Amino acid sequence: MSAKAFLSLGSNLGDRKATLLAALDALDRGGARIIRRSSLYETAPVGKIDQPRFLNLVVEVATDLTPADLLALCQSVERDLGRVRKERWGPRTVDIDILLYDRLAIQTPSLTIPHPEMTRRRFVLVPLLEIAPDASLPDGRRLNAFLADVADQDVRRVED
Ligand code: AMP
Repeated sequence: MSAKAFLSLGSNLGDRKATLLAALDALDRGGARIIRRSSLYETAPVGKIDQPRFLNLVVEVATDLTPADLLALCQSVERDLGRVRKERWGPRTVDIDILLYDRLAIQTPSLTIPHPEMTRRRFVLVPLLEIAPDASLPDGRRLNAFLADVADQDVRRVED
């Protein structure tokens, strides 16, 4: 049986929506079959704030790839879409993070699942809860419980 995973995608350079949709297409063709996708959300940058606003979305995928191979796919899609990576937290054509992979908890030098920042990012929680209202961490904590802590972050649903 395929695994179920959730991915977060963001873009803040160039034609953001076209880039995100191209990334979804490439993920799907690479073996992360798109099952459900959230609306698009426009979000203020977190961390380094003097940069363009992001468009973000979350997708549920079904995959036979291992977590490590799924990460490799995400990174190859980032590369193919011409991610410009001059600085950490800086502008990027597309950034793809693995949020959850079944109920696995993984910690290796190159991969941490659940994604360690996901509970602190409203731009991850809101689209994730849109498509999976009952989503929880592998330890059983429900993700909607974390929303109150990030209420101050600016995340707006945009038409798509
Ligand atoms: P970022 O600057 O957010 O794109 O970070 C990229 C690095 O995060 C990569 O070198 C990955 O190996 C690492 N990483 C660790 N955990 C994850 C995850 N759950 N999803 C994506 N990248 C991850």
